Amino acid sequence: RDALATIDAARAPFKAARFEARPLIAGTAQPLPVVEALNPSNGDVIGQVFNASSADVETALANAQPWAASETERAEVLNRAAELYEAHYGEIFAALAREAGKIQIDAVAELREAVDFLHYYAHNIPQNAQARGLFTCISPWNFPLAIFTGQVAAALATGNAVLAKPAEQTPIIATLAVQLLHEAGVPREALQLLPGDGATVGARLTSDARINGVAFTGSTETAKIIRRAMADNMDPGAPLIAETGGLNAMIVDSTALPEQAVRDILVSAFQSAGQRCSALRCLYVQDDIAPTIQEMLFGAMDELLVDNPWDLTTDIGPVIDDEAAGIIRDHVATARAQGRVLKEISAPQQGHFCAPVAIRVNGIEDMKREIFGPVLHIATFKSEDLHKVIDAVNATGYGLTFGLHTRIDNRVQEVTESIHCGNIYVNRNQVGAVVGSQPFGGEGLSGTGPKAGGPEYLWRFTTSAPSDKP
Ligand code: NAD
Repeated sequence: RDALATIDAARAPFKAARFEARPLIAGTAQPLPVVEALNPSNGDVIGQVFNASSADVETALANAQPWAASETERAEVLNRAAELYEAHYGEIFAALAREAGKIQIDAVAELREAVDFLHYYAHNIPQNAQARGLFTCISPWNFPLAIFTGQVAAALATGNAVLAKPAEQTPIIATLAVQLLHEAGVPREALQLLPGDGATVGARLTSDARINGVAFTGSTETAKIIRRAMADNMDPGAPLIAETGGLNAMIVDSTALPEQAVRDILVSAFQSAGQRCSALRCLYVQDDIAPTIQEMLFGAMDELLVDNPWDLTTDIGPVIDDEAAGIIRDHVATARAQGRVLKEISAPQQGHFCAPVAIRVNGIEDMKREIFGPVLHIATFKSEDLHKVIDAVNATGYGLTFGLHTRIDNRVQEVTESIHCGNIYVNRNQVGAVVGSQPFGGEGLSGTGPKAGGPEYLWRFTTSAPSDKP
C-alpha cells in the first residue's frame, strides 16, 4: 500500500499536465505545424506534438557525429541516464498511462526494462570494436520507452550516432527519454530525435546513403519495406536488425495443471490489452481437457476490469488508437456473425477500449494476420494430432513466442525441438523477457536476430564480430 501511495503521489503532478514532443536535433529545428496528442482512454488532449520537417531530417543527417567518447565514458553516461529515468518515474508513469494507455504494472515493468537495457549495454560494450557510424532506430508504440531505449542505448553504447524515430502514437515518451539521455551527457550530435510519420520521416531515414545501419521494431510488413529501401540506397553491408510481428501459439495438453494453465493463458493473451508482440494469439487445448479449461478461463475473464489505465485497479486499458480498435472490432464482428465468439466481456463505450474476447477457430491456419489486441483464438486437438499442430504453427512462417503446458517430460523436449521459434515458454506465461538472462528475439517472419538484451546484440552495431573478441 505504501508503494502504491508513493507512485500515486509521484504521478499526481502529471495527471493533467500538458506534455510536448518535438525534434531534438543538433541545429535549429523547423518542425511542422503542431498537432494534438490524445489520450487513448478518453480522447482528452494531453499535449502538443511538433513533428520533424524534411529540413529537420536534413539538418540531423548533416550534423550527426558518432559518439567519440571512450568506452568507459559511454558506460558512465548510460548508467547515469538509467538513474535519471528512475528519478523521473512519476512523469514517465504518467506519460505511459496517458499517451500509451499503459496500466500501472505494465508501466512499472516497462521502466524497469528500459533501465535494465541501459545498464546491461553499458556493462557489455564490446572492447576495441569499431562503431558502424550512423544508425537509424525506428520503434513501435507498444513499448514506447523500453524498446525505444533499448535500440538507442545499444547503438550509442557501441559509439554510433543515432537518428531515432519513435512511433507516431508515442512521441511524447520518446521526447522525455531523449531529454534524459542528453541530460546524462549523450552529445546532441550523437543522439537526435525526429518524431514523424513512418511514410515520410521513417522512409527518409531508411533510404539515405549516409546511414550505416537500421534497428527496427514493428510489423513484418514495415520491415519488408525498410529492407527494400535499404537495398536500393545503402551500402550492401549496412545491417537491418529487425524485431517484427508474430502469430503466437500455446499448446495445453491434458496433463497440464488447469489452474496454472488458465492463469498463464489470461496473462499471455490479455495483459497489456494483447498489444504485445509476444502475446498469445492461438491456443490449442487437447480435447479432453478443453471443457474444463474453457469454463475456468471464461469465468476468470469475467473478473477482468477493463477501464482507465490510470486507476490502480484496472487490469486492461485501451488499445492505442481508433485504427487499432477498428481492426479488432471488425475481426470480432466477423467471428460473431459466423457464430464463433465463445466469450466476450464488457468494456467502456467511450475511448478506444476493446473487450477481451475468445473466438473459436479450427487452427492457426484460420488466422490470416496478427490481430494486435485482446483477442484469443481457441482450437482443440486430439492427442494423435499433436504433430499436425506443430506443423501448422511452423507453417505460419512466424517464430516469435510459443507456449507449452504439459507434465510429460519427454514431450517438452519433443515439442520444443520441433517448433521453429525464438522464445519458448514451458509451464509459464509466454510474455516477458529479462534483459541479460532471458534475451528476446524472433525467427523467420518475426525477426532477424540477434536477440535484444543478449550477448550478441551489441556486436551487430559494430563492424566486428563476437569472434573478434580480444
Ligand atoms: P509499424 O510497423 O506500423 O510501425 C513501427 C514503426 O515503423 C513506427 O515508428 C512507424 O512510424 C515506422 N514506419 C512505418 N512505415 C515506415 C516506413 N515506410 N519506413 C520506415 N519506418 C516506417 O508497427 P506498430 O504498429 O508501431 O507496432 C506493432 C507491431 O510491432 C506488431 O506487428 C508487433 O508484433 C511488432 N512488435 C514486435 C516486437 C518484437 O520484439 N518482435 C516488439 C514490439 C512490437
